[in-house]
Amino acid sequence: MNQLNPTLYDLSLPELSALLESWGEKSYRARQIWQGAYRNLWDAPEAFSNLPSALRARLEEHLDFQALQPVTQLESRDGQTVKTLFRLRDGQHIEAVLMKYGEAFTPDPSPAEGGVKGRGKIRRTLCISTQAGCAMGCTFCATGQMGFRRNLSSGEIVAQVLYYARQLAEIGERVTNVVVMGMGEPFHNYENTLNAIARLNDPQGFNFGARRFTISTVGLVPQIRRFADEQHQVGLAISLHAADNDLRASMLPIAHKYPLPALMEAVRYYVERTRRRVTFEWALIDGVNDTPEAARQLAALIKQYLPIHLTHVNAIPLNPTENFRGRATSRKQARLFRDTLEKNGISCTIRLRRGIDIQAGCGQLAVRAGREGETRFQI
Ligand code: SAH
Ligand code: SF4
Repeated sequence: MNQLNPTLYDLSLPELSALLESWGEKSYRARQIWQGAYRNLWDAPEAFSNLPSALRARLEEHLDFQALQPVTQLESRDGQTVKTLFRLRDGQHIEAVLMKYGEAFTPDPSPAEGGVKGRGKIRRTLCISTQAGCAMGCTFCATGQMGFRRNLSSGEIVAQVLYYARQLAEIGERVTNVVVMGMGEPFHNYENTLNAIARLNDPQGFNFGARRFTISTVGLVPQIRRFADEQHQVGLAISLHAADNDLRASMLPIAHKYPLPALMEAVRYYVERTRRRVTFEWALIDGVNDTPEAARQLAALIKQYLPIHLTHVNAIPLNPTENFRGRATSRKQARLFRDTLEKNGISCTIRLRRGIDIQAGCGQLAVRAGREGETRFQI
């Protein structure tokens, strides 16, 4: 049955080669298919016109070329944020968001410049999902509120990036950064997430630099240590939100299992092993964790464990969700929080809440799709 076939994007190049070899195909065929999928971004067997039709038919019989179907695509009023709700082959829903920063691309074939020209920082940053739902149950998170459905396969993670890469290619642009901060906890689906990144990283294929990825974790200690040991070039962000364990555990239940000292020890281990900078994420909630006192507490926690030049704090005003009573911080409080951190030597950026008008907070669209059915979300 077609449903049970893996998708093309679930296979590594060696796995694809082995499959083709088992069919008696010449070894260069796997590379042709790989380049078709990851360089030319072809997503249907008939697009592979460089293959004999018998091979195309066999591929179609054994592999699925569509891992996900867009159900709806919303654009923010300023056109800078695009959010897509996808249906997976088993009917689950996930989301991915494209955030555009800086002026339009001017096409430039020079690889040295990464094809990017013009003044200022031009970024096309994708936020992708690793699970349908999430098991971690963070109280302020729309995905956490919907519970865990299932892990995404590596192919389903890869396919989100290829989907936007195709859209951008049509207007002469490309993805510049990928943040693994959509639905789900990436370190709760460790293998598939890292395999997806490796697949997109392959210089023979999509060739997307590992340093252009950032994984965000709620703080799964064993996986942070494993990630450090494996010496990935991928960036790491830790969702902290509170420097006091009781407050943190009241919002992020995982803090009962991995309290702050264990988490910070693991982060220290990561920084020592990799000498890479780590980012802390902090959703600013009015009157809860946005006070100067909270900022001083955070600065003290960071200094206790880490060299401050290898840390950064991303503070994001809370995105309101249906089942969480907290409110977003005010602009003034956010600035005070940042300034207090900086006075204490910790660098901090206040991030914009992108696409608030299209519910770009992760999980918000999928929750609605699950509840209301899909009729309102047809493209
Ligand atoms: N599961 C991972 C990655 C996905 S969530 C993690 O928790 O890190 C990505 C980021 O969005 C996390 O920092 C998370 O805490 C934050 N987040 C979730 N819901 C939010 C909300 N309603 N407002 C602001 N940030 C939110
Ligand atoms: Fe899961 Fe991250 Fe949401 Fe927590 S914040 S429920 S870990 S997606």
